[in-house]
Amino acid sequence: MKQISVMRSTLGRLPIYLEFLQGLDISENENISATVIAKSLGLGEVQVRKDLNAVSGAGRPKLGYRTDELIKRIYEVLGRNDIKKAVIIGAGKLGNALLEYNGFRDYGLLITAAFDIDESKAGITEAGKEILPLTQLEEYVLREGVRIAVITVPASSAQSICDRLVGCGIEAIWNFAPCALCVPEGVLLQQENLALSLAHLKLTMNNG
Ligand code: ATP
Repeated sequence: MKQISVMRSTLGRLPIYLEFLQGLDISENENISATVIAKSLGLGEVQVRKDLNAVSGAGRPKLGYRTDELIKRIYEVLGRNDIKKAVIIGAGKLGNALLEYNGFRDYGLLITAAFDIDESKAGITEAGKEILPLTQLEEYVLREGVRIAVITVPASSAQSICDRLVGCGIEAIWNFAPCALCVPEGVLLQQENLALSLAHLKLTMNNG
């Protein structure tokens, strides 16, 4: 697949374009233009044009994009053909909520299991996802070829969990624990701070 870098905002709109395009009768809509997509979805034409340009280059003058090719391309960029497994460490309230959330699938991500130090939490969730004892972490990650992990343990345990994840070959970590983590070069770390996101919204609201 051709490697491209897509802005986060564009990535956020791709599932909307995909759903729209998949709803079309391809035999009657062999080609589709950014103008038509923008109008149908009530979005700005300039924005749609930029988004589509980022994933599939410029459309053909007057004709736009071949609908089937555009669908295929958005599929690829969203990673739907290349499902990546992820695990969660810390099956508390947040960990469980993420484990049950289906929206990751839109982006080719599959959270397959959660791990917890508290072995009484082990079992199968209603949605059929496994919660496993932390002792099985390394073996599971290697066996299942997991490359992404989500940390939802308390801050006090986050660095030691992070070190274990790096030690068993995890390449990307999404950290919800409210603390800074150290990872070696080559491991991607994305820090999430839910309180900060809401605080930012509140501040923006107060300033508006
Ligand atoms: P709950 O009250 O259901 O445990 P919580 O989200 O309030 O949820 P936290 O104290 O934030 O609980 O802990 C989140 C989860 O992380 C808990 O399930 C806890 O057992 C687990 N946990 C704590 N330390 C570790 C660790 N070192 N490794 C794995 N899991 C851990």
